[in-house]
Amino acid sequence: MPARASFYLEEEMLKDEIERRNAKRVLIQLPEGLKAEGPRLAMIAEKAGALAIVSADPCYGACDLAIQEAEDLGADLLIHFGHSSLTTQQRVPTIYLEAKASVGIRESVNQAVPYLKDWKSLGLATTVQHVDMLSEARDLLIKTGKSVAIGYTGKLKYAGQVIGCNYSNGKAIANDVEAFLFIGGGRFHAIGLALATAKPVIVADPYEKRAYAVDGEVQRIVKQRWASIHEAEKAEKFGVLIGLKSRQEKLDRALQIKEKLEMEEKKTTLFALREVTPEALMQFPTVEVFVNTACPRISLDDASKFLKPVLTLDETSVVLGEMSWEKLCKEGWFGNAT
Ligand code: SF4
Repeated sequence: MPARASFYLEEEMLKDEIERRNAKRVLIQLPEGLKAEGPRLAMIAEKAGALAIVSADPCYGACDLAIQEAEDLGADLLIHFGHSSLTTQQRVPTIYLEAKASVGIRESVNQAVPYLKDWKSLGLATTVQHVDMLSEARDLLIKTGKSVAIGYTGKLKYAGQVIGCNYSNGKAIANDVEAFLFIGGGRFHAIGLALATAKPVIVADPYEKRAYAVDGEVQRIVKQRWASIHEAEKAEKFGVLIGLKSRQEKLDRALQIKEKLEMEEKKTTLFALREVTPEALMQFPTVEVFVNTACPRISLDDASKFLKPVLTLDETSVVLGEMSWEKLCKEGWFGNAT
């Protein structure tokens, strides 16, 4: 989420929910681009009658609800900004304030039109911040003679919505379109959409009011993943990472992977951690390859920062001979994701 851009932070809803629930202590969680708003939002919460605590820990997605922290702090309401609901949990009452963007999309979509000239049928995708503007983008593209599809599988809250590890709405229409237009800031989701659908993706960035392609980055990542899988095929010592964030924890999958690797005579150790970082993994220099059951984007986007291959679950299936490389490239890297 780009910093300094304007978002609707739903201050009235924040105040109303605290009053309606008679909340006495709230924990406020914000993604990195909105962290600076924390003190102002805490003041609003306190005026509404609750003691407010702002989480200063990283928060990259709705997979990372601070449920345990809210319990430890005695909070009776968790307020999560910037993402839509991903999971139902009963432990701590939670409200999601989605931080829709106020910036318009028209100029960036118009900038994208020349990049789309070779395709007649397009898919549209975006993050929760711009979902309300997808119909405007669709109308603009239809006026230029395109046919436009917006997918909806019900796995995410909104039609056309994507998150970093879930492109089900894009995949649902991938066979019906020649390319995608992604509306949003930065390359992260556009690269994920391209990896998930194996289709060309053009970005219309409303913050920078410009458009660009991401195929160069996608090809570089695919080559790098091929090299990591090859290296893993020769390795003897594996580590399986269990993410401790609320929606990233896949203990059962980690246990299955350990069993399968050991059947292939690979020595395998389980590791549990909240943040999968190069520093955390460097503490275990005898491990040759890590299997990451937590956020798959750490494997895909941050590969150059790690000294050892850090495979996703789907890539591990290739190493184990359960899936072909061709199938992985065609069906995408997010079959096992959140
Ligand atoms: S697992 Fe990773 S990509 Fe998926 S929602 Fe969480 S932070 Fe985003």
